[in-house]
Amino acid sequence: MPTALDLSHVTLTYPDGAGRLTAVDDASLTIRRGELVGLVGPSGSGKSSLLSLASTLQRPTTGEVTVDGTPTSALSTRELLTLRREKIGIIFQQPQLIESLTAREQLLITESIRGGKTRGARGRADELLDLVGLSGQADRRPGQLSGGQRQRVNIARALMGQPALLLVDEPTSALDRERSASVVALLEKVTREFETGTLLVTHETETLGNADRVLHMEDGRLSPSL
Ligand code: ADP
Ligand code: MG
Repeated sequence: MPTALDLSHVTLTYPDGAGRLTAVDDASLTIRRGELVGLVGPSGSGKSSLLSLASTLQRPTTGEVTVDGTPTSALSTRELLTLRREKIGIIFQQPQLIESLTAREQLLITESIRGGKTRGARGRADELLDLVGLSGQADRRPGQLSGGQRQRVNIARALMGQPALLLVDEPTSALDRERSASVVALLEKVTREFETGTLLVTHETETLGNADRVLHMEDGRLSPSL
């Protein structure tokens, strides 16, 4: 099975006045499928920038990003869009759910935009909602769900496309400690069951006990966490 993610000497700089700010500085990282990797570090250290490179939403200034065996630097914008749809699930801090749609519909509409199979999609959506602990909630709209439940819908939605790579940026910062721990536990279960390579940015290091590795970021540089 190909590696879910390989970052090889990636650097990302942003324009900054007359010069450039280095948000990611020569970072290398490999994540296999079925592996959960935590990423911690102070605010502004480059964690979200690293995720934006891994997601191919931004291209690195230098270096190569390989997703599920496909090197991305030579791909066109359109090819990148296809790669993202087929290979990558992205979960950000605030679940961006559509207020007028039920939990099930959030999953179905994403799949239909993706151009995925409509046959069996409803059954799969309901299975995923069960898996994330939302049995019996499929017909609820975001306004009828708690913050933790909305984040679970968000996770289920990211899994609809059967991604090889799951990128998660501070999924629990809007939640209390107990709910945060249960969302991280869910992400671990998902990683093992669906064999996603999962990169999880979090402030709450104590929730990362079951991660295979934890990396630390500081001033754009990546290092193993002690
Ligand atoms: P973290 O997620 O660890 O808080 P970020 O990746 O958001 O860190 O930011 C890393 C650095 O890059 C910070 O100095 C931030 O101000 C800068 N930065 C992030 N996004 C942009 C952007 N779109 N344009 C310019 N600078 C940015
Ligand atoms: Mg961030």
